[in-house]
Amino acid sequence: MTACLFCQIVARQSPADIEYEDDEALAFRDIYPKAPVHLLIIPKRHIESVMALSPEDAAVVGRLVLVAQRIGKAKGFAERGYRLAINCGPEGGQDVYHLHLHVLGGRSLTWPPG
Ligand code: 5GP
Ligand code: ZN
Repeated sequence: MTACLFCQIVARQSPADIEYEDDEALAFRDIYPKAPVHLLIIPKRHIESVMALSPEDAAVVGRLVLVAQRIGKAKGFAERGYRLAINCGPEGGQDVYHLHLHVLGGRSLTWPPG
């Protein structure tokens, strides 16, 4: 069994609330949500982080963003907006070293609040 938690979710060796899947990408609910909607969109293929990307990965990264757009529309956030975030490396706050795009929505994320 792979040591990577998100590869385990892709392989259905670990449970997750999966909300979207296609041949290259998977989206599931974050276990510790920081907003009413907090999903993680990942490439099915293991890529460690943004720092590990190569030019050949451009299409899959684009796919993740398009999946986020699709989810944003499906959740009714097209007008009000939402946040996409990728944490990179230790000081960027990356805890899981399988590339993932956070989708946060359902509350205002502006700063200062309001
Ligand atoms: P990072 O800090 O690497 O950008 O984000 C990792 C995210 O994965 C965190 O928001 C964390 O809550 C989430 N997470 C960690 N372990 C699990 C898990 O086992 N299942 C799910 N669904 N999310 C997880
Ligand atoms: Zn992985």
